[in-house]
Amino acid sequence: MAKLDMNGPFAFDQETINQKVTKTSAGNYALGRLDEKGTFFVSYVGRSDTDVAERLSSHLNEKGYSFFKFSYASSTKDAFEKECRNYHDFGENKSLKNDYHPDKPNGTNYKCPVCNK
Ligand SMILES: [Zn+2]
Repeated sequence: MAKLDMNGPFAFDQETINQKVTKTSAGNYALGRLDEKGTFFVSYVGRSDTDVAERLSSHLNEKGYSFFKFSYASSTKDAFEKECRNYHDFGENKSLKNDYHPDKPNGTNYKCPVCNK
């Protein structure tokens, strides 16, 4: 069973983001919904190399996401590698709404730990 290893799920609105994501930090997040049993269902995975709260807020006008999970990352490399694992673990662009494989951080040559892209 794939694991996100993130905090949450939390209601996906500005107030909750402000309450829960209090550090300005690189990080990872997942957007989705809860099923009848309260299990978080992942629809989209992402990261920010600078401010995960700001990146989360930028998705608020998109339809179909009612809950989010997130985690802070200690470096842009950690954030990138975690996003890659999340992307591959949760079905890539076939199951997720992500259209593309995660981009490496600007100015780096980091490789995806799963597919080596
Ligand atoms: Zn990959």
